[in-house]
Amino acid sequence: MDRKVYDVAVIGAGMGGLGVAALLANYGYRTLVVEKLPFVGGRASSFEYKGFTLPTGSLYVETGGVVEALFAEVGAAFPVRPFPMELCFRMGGKDYPMPPKGGLRNLLSTFAGEEEAARLMAAIRRAFAWNEPSLEISIHDWLLQYTQNENVLAIFRGLVNYQCVNFRDQPAGEFMRQLRLGTGATAGAAPEGFLALMNELVKVINAKGGEVRTGVRAKSIMVEDGQARGILVEMDGKVQEISAGAVISDAGPHATLELAGKQNFDKGYLKEVREKVRPLAYMEIDLASDAPLVEFPGVMVAPEGRRQMTMMATTLTYPEFAPPGKHLLQAWAAPDSSFLPMDAKREMDLFLQDLREAIPGFDSKAEVLHASYWQKDWPMYRALPGAISQKTPIENLYNVGDGVAPLVPLGLPACAHTAKIVASDIKQRLRPQES
Ligand SMILES: Cc1cc2nc3c(=O)[nH]c(=O)nc-3n(C[C@H](O)[C@H](O)[C@H](O)COP(=O)(O)OP(=O)(O)OC[C@H]3O[C@@H](n4cnc5c(N)ncnc54)[C@H](O)[C@@H]3O)c2cc1C
Repeated sequence: MDRKVYDVAVIGAGMGGLGVAALLANYGYRTLVVEKLPFVGGRASSFEYKGFTLPTGSLYVETGGVVEALFAEVGAAFPVRPFPMELCFRMGGKDYPMPPKGGLRNLLSTFAGEEEAARLMAAIRRAFAWNEPSLEISIHDWLLQYTQNENVLAIFRGLVNYQCVNFRDQPAGEFMRQLRLGTGATAGAAPEGFLALMNELVKVINAKGGEVRTGVRAKSIMVEDGQARGILVEMDGKVQEISAGAVISDAGPHATLELAGKQNFDKGYLKEVREKVRPLAYMEIDLASDAPLVEFPGVMVAPEGRRQMTMMATTLTYPEFAPPGKHLLQAWAAPDSSFLPMDAKREMDLFLQDLREAIPGFDSKAEVLHASYWQKDWPMYRALPGAISQKTPIENLYNVGDGVAPLVPLGLPACAHTAKIVASDIKQRLRPQES
C-alpha cells in the first residue's frame, strides 16, 4: 500500500472543507482535500443543463460577511454580483412588496389590523432585544399564542421558508435568531455559477502547496490510541494511506462516525449525533420560459399553498444563467416535515400544483427544466445551528460544515464559521511539518 504524508487531510470539498483547507494552506500547512464527486463545491456548486446554469444547492451567498472575509483572508477572488434583497408576498392573487423598513408591520396590519400587528411586533421586538423564545416549541406553535389569523400565519410561514426550513420544524428561538441575523444582510450569486466561485478556493489551495483531488473517496479514517492518524483513500486505482496530523471531515457528523468507526467514540457523543444532527429536507423546481414568469426581481414569497414556497425570477438579475432568449425561475419549498417519513413524489406533486396556481398561465408558458429533492445525507442543512461541536472525542479529528454550525446565520456563512474555528484551533495546537 502506498503511503503519503500531509499535515492535514480534509474529506469533502464543500464550503466547509474547501474553506478550512484554504485557511490552513494559507497558514503553511501541507493540506490534501479528497472529494468523492467529480466536481468541487458539494451543495454549493453548479452544473450546465440544456444551456442553463443550475445550482447543486445554494444559489445565493451572503456578501460582506464571514464567507467573503474568508475568501479575502486567503487571497481568493470573490466573483459574486449583488442580488436585490427585496421581498414580495403573493397572497390571494395580489402582490404585496415588503419594504425593508416597516414592511413587516405594514403587511401584518393589512391582514390583521393595527392592534394585532402591534402585539406581534412587540413580541418580536422583545425576542430581538431581550430574550429569544424557547427552542422547545416551533415558530408555528409560538405564533398561535399571539394570533389565529390564517393570513398572519401564512406571512410567517413565508418568512420561515426564506430561511429554508419548514414552519413546524423551525424552533421559535432559532427563527427569531435567523430573522435578527438576516435583517440588513446582503447577498449575491456568482454569475458564472457556484462551481466557478468554489474553484477560486481550489486555486488558493494549489498555489499554497496543497492539493484538491476530485473523484477520490475517503474509505476510512485511521484511528490509533484515541487519535486520528490519517485516512485511507482509493486514488489512482489503488488504496493509499494518507498520514496526517489532523483529519477534518466535511462529510457530515453521521458519515464521520462511519468512517472512523463508531467503536472509537464515546456513548454520549454517539447519542448527541443521533439526537441532534437531524437533516432538514427541501425541494427545488427550475422552470424555463420564453418571457419572465414573475416580474419581481427579488424574492417572491407564496406562502398560502399546500407547501410553503418561495420563487425567484433569477434571470432578471442574472441573464447569464439561461441561454439567449430564455428565462429561468427557481422555486423552493419545504416538504411537510423533515423528521417524519415522507413520500418525495407526493411532496413534489403538491409543490408543482402550488406553482401552477401561483403563476398565471403556467401550463402554456412554463417548462419544468429540473426538479430536486434534498434529504438524508444530501440535505438542505445537516442540522440546525448549535447541534454539536466541531471537535470530536477523537483527538485531532474535526467536523466542518453545516452539521456542526455554531449559532450563526444558516448555510454558507455557518460553514465558513466552522472552517475558521477549526483552522484557528489547529493553528494553536499543531505546527506544520511537525504535526
Ligand atoms: C436547495 C438548497 C438551497 C440552498 N440555498 C442556500 C443559499 O442560498 N445560501 C446559503 O448560504 N446556503 C444555502 N444552502 C445551504 C448550503 O448550500 C449548505 O449549507 C452548504 O453548501 C453545505 O456545505 P458543507 O461543506 O457543509 O457540505 P457539502 O456541500 O455537502 O460538502 C460535503 C462534501 O463532502 C463530500 N464527501 C462526502 N463523503 C465523502 C467521502 N467519504 N470522501 C470524499 N468526499 C466525501 C461530498 O461529496 C460533498 O461534496 C442551500 C442548500 C440547498 C440544498
